Amino acid sequence: MDRDSKGLAIVIRSTAIRENDRLLTLFSPSLGFVSAVSYGARKSIKGVKAPLYTEGTFSLEKGRRGMTLKDVDVISTHDYIAEDLDRTQAAMLFSDLVLTGRSAEPELYSLYASALDALEDTAFEKVTVQFIVHFLAIEGLSGDYVSCPVCGRPYGSTEILGFSASEGVAVCHDCDTMDGALLLPPNARAYLRRSLEMDLPASLSLGVSSEQEHRIFRYLLRTLPYSFPGKLRSLEYGIWKL
Ligand SMILES: [Zn+2]
Repeated sequence: MDRDSKGLAIVIRSTAIRENDRLLTLFSPSLGFVSAVSYGARKSIKGVKAPLYTEGTFSLEKGRRGMTLKDVDVISTHDYIAEDLDRTQAAMLFSDLVLTGRSAEPELYSLYASALDALEDTAFEKVTVQFIVHFLAIEGLSGDYVSCPVCGRPYGSTEILGFSASEGVAVCHDCDTMDGALLLPPNARAYLRRSLEMDLPASLSLGVSSEQEHRIFRYLLRTLPYSFPGKLRSLEYGIWKL
């Protein structure tokens, strides 16, 4: 990395270090994941303020002991996330998936940034459903909800999908390994299939009842440990009871 760096990024993790400083992990579409120390972030008026989930253009300086945050031109601080426990839990899960998945693709950055934006005025369950579905698709960890990823057979229009624990994906009835414990009905499958044809902001306008949204939300959180190979502390120690 160059001596100084500048780029669009979001503070995806912020940890207190020493008395007044913070160690930030920045997620940037051009720089990838970058660690930078924000000196005086917790006290002085002079310290550069970049709280968790701040999106902006970050200016970093390379010193003897790593990168230092020099300045940030703020686009959004996403303040509303901290005002609500469910929004906080949702943002923690999104960050956990991105950091544990370890890929800093620009496509993933737009997904993450637009999901944080959407938490301001869209129900948290809807945003979470759309984040998980798009995230797993980008990472190659989900099927397309059109045909069975195990046997390749196109799904019938009224078919109820089962789940393969070993493959971590929704599958046809014949490939189900969970004895029907994780079923996906046809209307829910259609919703997920249509979601994947759009980007996250567009998919948020798909019409679905809040009961249906809640069932799909629960389904995705219950299947996530099978679909995603990493350990998700945000869910394990989180507030959502499944
Ligand atoms: Zn199959």
